Formats: sequence, C-alpha cells, structure tokens
Amino acid sequence: MIEQTHSTLISEDRGGPAQPLLLVRDLKKYFPVRSGLFTKEKRFVHAVDNVSFSVSKGKTLGIVGESGCGKSTTAKLVARLISADSGKMVFDGDGVVEYGGIALKEFRKNLQMVFQDSFASLNPRLTIEQTIAYGPTVHGIPAHEAKSQARELLQRVGLSPDQFASRYPHELSGGQRQRVNIARALAYQPRLVILDEAVAALDKSVQAQVLNLLQELKQERQLTYLFISHDLHVVHYMSDEVMVMYLGQVVEKGPVERIFNTPAHPYTKALLSAIPSMNPAKRTLKPPLEGDPPNPINPPAGCRFQDRCPHVMDLCRNVSPVLMNVTNIDAFSEHTVACHLNQGMRL
Ligand code: SF4
Repeated sequence: MIEQTHSTLISEDRGGPAQPLLLVRDLKKYFPVRSGLFTKEKRFVHAVDNVSFSVSKGKTLGIVGESGCGKSTTAKLVARLISADSGKMVFDGDGVVEYGGIALKEFRKNLQMVFQDSFASLNPRLTIEQTIAYGPTVHGIPAHEAKSQARELLQRVGLSPDQFASRYPHELSGGQRQRVNIARALAYQPRLVILDEAVAALDKSVQAQVLNLLQELKQERQLTYLFISHDLHVVHYMSDEVMVMYLGQVVEKGPVERIFNTPAHPYTKALLSAIPSMNPAKRTLKPPLEGDPPNPINPPAGCRFQDRCPHVMDLCRNVSPVLMNVTNIDAFSEHTVACHLNQGMRL
C-alpha cells in the first residue's frame, strides 16, 4: 500500500470510530421544469425529498431503487456536484459548508466518486499515468512523487505499470478503464468513495473481479463506500446496510441481511421478488411490480407507492408514512420502514 507522503492529502479520523463518517439530514432537491408559454405556475420535479441517512466508518451503504428514484441525485448532492435546496451534511463531526457548516475544501479532499461510464470519466488526451497523477499534482505533490504513486496504484488495481502507464483510455477495455478510475479516485487518499453504478457497464466476470478489488481496497485503506446500484445481487454482496428509495424518498433502511431476509416495505418486497432465480421451479411468472412510479412533478399526497401497493388503505392516500423502527422485530433494531402497515402493528 502506498504511504501517505504529503500532508495535504492526509485525512485524519477526527471523530473516532463511533462518529459516523457521513450524516445527511433532510436533503432536498427540486428541479424546476419549463412551464408552457402561457402558464405562470412554477412546477418542480421532486428528485430528492427530505432524505436522511448516515454511513458508519469503514462500512458500505447500498442505495437501491428503480431508475428515477433519486439515488444518483442523492449521490451528486453528497458529492456537491449539484447543490441542495436545503438539508444538512456532517462529515466526521464537521458540518459541510452550504449545508450549514464548514470545511467544504476538506470535505472534497476526502470524497471521490466513480461513475458508470468509465470512458467519459477519463480525459482522452492524458495517458493513464498522467490521469492518476493529475489530482495529487494539483494538490501540491511534486510531479515525480505523484508519478511514482500513480504507478504503484496501477499495480495495486491489477494493471502492470510497464504495460499500461503510457496508454490512452481508448486503448483499454471497459474493465481496465474502471480500474484506472478506481486508481485515480484512490490517488486523492479519500475516506469516502461514492460508487454510482460503477460496475453496471461491465460484463459479469469482469464485474466480479472489480467488486472483489473494491472489497480488498476497502479493508486495506479503511474506506467507506456509498454504493449505488440497480443490481440487488451486487448490492447484497457489497453492502453492510441498505437504503431503499422510491420517488425521491427513503422507504426502508437497515442492515443488509435484515432487508434481504425480512423486508418490511411492500416496495422492497416487490423489488426482491423480482430478482431472477437460478432455480427453474422458483421462476416468477407474474411481474411483482406493475405500472410505473407516479409523476415526480406532482407526487400524490400520502404514500407515494399507493397506486402500486397491494395493501393500500384510505389512510395511505392522505397521510405520508414516516420512517419508524420495524415493530415486529425489536424496538431498538436499526431496521426502519415508512409504511402505515408497520405503524398499524405498533398501535
Ligand atoms: Fe402500501 Fe400504504 Fe404502506 Fe404505502 S403506506 S406502502 S400504500 S400499505
């Protein structure tokens, strides 16, 4: 493993192990939509609506949901690629600026993101070595040091520096490019890495190799991951905790085995029952989830899942359920769900 040789990239564990690395509270992002020529009414897509969660140090939080549920927007808000309308973010005990606190520069240094499109994320005019060395050089590390770190990182992600350092992105396969993206992210010595569908474009065998590499790097470098994927198998393999999103809101959250073995929200149950089984006797003949999510411009009052939920009640059409502990397990479990069925069991 590469030694941290320059103070500008060293990040300390300030808050201790009990302090979550990332705390997000009531994050909200509405995107304005263009109205008609003669319409004065302003309309907004409710992309992320009061989303709160935390990620413990050295853990992986998997975020799942159908496309359009707000998982990638949440990732971009966390990474500050877009700014939130409101909400608060605390990184290892420090509030992040524009979310009501301090330390945006420090925060950016500690966080890196790996995207699905491995090619678009790389500058086609830079060699692989230049790509990886670029960030540290900008942060003041001498060029020769950044270059030798880049070669070590290439070696660590399974690409021989002698063979790959002087190549350009178009000379690599998708899996090799994603390894370069991981090496480039690690060059900043981050503590939090956001992986947004990072293996979705890779074929299955390459995907497995990259996932194993990510798991090894997490252990070696005490990394914390925010892992976003539509692939539930992959989320199950990678995550310590899982957060399920539906139409911009969190509907269920909890330890990975709890969510996969005893899901509490009808949407999570439908998502999990849609996972293809290798057993022909367990093939699903009926789609577990019918219809489309409602329009995010005008989400319905009450529960947003009401039009697709087999258990919908009058209450669901008027009152939004809030996240509460799942009652049929134990009052102190970290398994929470936003559904009136659960709240009814509590009464
Ligand atoms: Fe279904 Fe009602 Fe629960 Fe929503 S709150 S998931 S509509 S039972």
